[in-house]
Amino acid sequence: MNNTPIPQKPRLYPTSQEKKKINLLDFTSDKLKALLIERGEKPFRATQLIKWMHQQGVDDFAQMSNVSKALRAELAAVAEIRAPEVVLDQASVDGTHKWLLRLDDGNCIETVFIPEKDRGTLCVSSQVGCALDCTFCSTARQGFNRNLTVSEIIGQLWAAKRSLQPDASSERVISNVVMMGMGEPLLNFDNVIDAMHLMLDDNAYGLSKRRVTLSTSGVVPALDRLRDEIDVSLALSLHAGNDPLRDQLVPINKKYPIKVLMEACKRFMQGKAARERITVEYVMLDGINDTDQHAKELISVLKEIPSKVNLIPFNPFPETRYKRSSNNRIHKFRDILLASGLIVMTRKTRGEDIDAACGQLAGQVNDRSRRKIHFARIE
Ligand code: SAH
Repeated sequence: MNNTPIPQKPRLYPTSQEKKKINLLDFTSDKLKALLIERGEKPFRATQLIKWMHQQGVDDFAQMSNVSKALRAELAAVAEIRAPEVVLDQASVDGTHKWLLRLDDGNCIETVFIPEKDRGTLCVSSQVGCALDCTFCSTARQGFNRNLTVSEIIGQLWAAKRSLQPDASSERVISNVVMMGMGEPLLNFDNVIDAMHLMLDDNAYGLSKRRVTLSTSGVVPALDRLRDEIDVSLALSLHAGNDPLRDQLVPINKKYPIKVLMEACKRFMQGKAARERITVEYVMLDGINDTDQHAKELISVLKEIPSKVNLIPFNPFPETRYKRSSNNRIHKFRDILLASGLIVMTRKTRGEDIDAACGQLAGQVNDRSRRKIHFARIE
């Protein structure tokens, strides 16, 4: 047998493996418990750590006064608590906030906070870019780059809370989260579910399940999985009441047409948890989907689904072929829906001066040369 060791190339730099610490923001309570038990620790340590990280916004193990010195030292050696870095924090005249967050790979994502009288809503991104090619959405222009990790999703809430509410003991500012930023959350299923578990976790953000909303363009198989995995509110980006029109606006409709989608919504409503109604989003596009006839089609599609319709005035972006419907048209459309007994809200456009409005989150500083564009790779 030849025992001569294989000569190794001298290593000038540490491998990424050596440098990389475990980011504790990637862990739900249960997963952190499992990790600690594996390392010979007591499970209650996970609760302590989750509280320090998410309730107190602490990212320094040295501050965790009820955790033993030995564990703090061990954690500092192998782990870290690291949210994406805030590179820009913009405030609109109407109180809306937008943060530009830089990820490790240099990509940027955007997160928006919308304060209202009775609540504060954070609009969170789930992917860098988006694989769905909705024709009225500026994120679609970027194509798809990659899924966000759990720490990158929950890190948006972590960073926004720290920025808005520097004193952890003061009154809660973010009461609602909507997964309506960049990306299709159901195409990043596992990470989005873990992040939403942290949003609901009483030891982390403790948000009510009615106040955490996942918005989807309608990935039917994932919608069925969602029903079984977590109890959160659902918003559906419908935008048209007939298939040829929806095929144009939301191309995933070719795969899961309206009838199939509505059946999935019915199954969702009959899930384990009592779900009263879903929110249906409908972007108002001048001359495209906003006539009286379109309103009637929408009523007919929704007749068996308890729903609340959100009419969203289209937010134009450079080079778009669409225009926003006039206020008069939106009112007329709304009145037709109301007359049928539907609950209808018209969404106010917020943060226009900082490009924070719906469908505007384009991550403008992302490096286009590194973008892999694979449109609509859906099972
Ligand atoms: N992919 C998910 C979540 C991201 S989009 C989804 O489709 O639901 C969040 C919401 O903003 C969706 O309802 C989307 O249709 C809407 N939207 C996208 N672009 C818009 C624009 N330019 N103006 C108004 N609403 C827009």
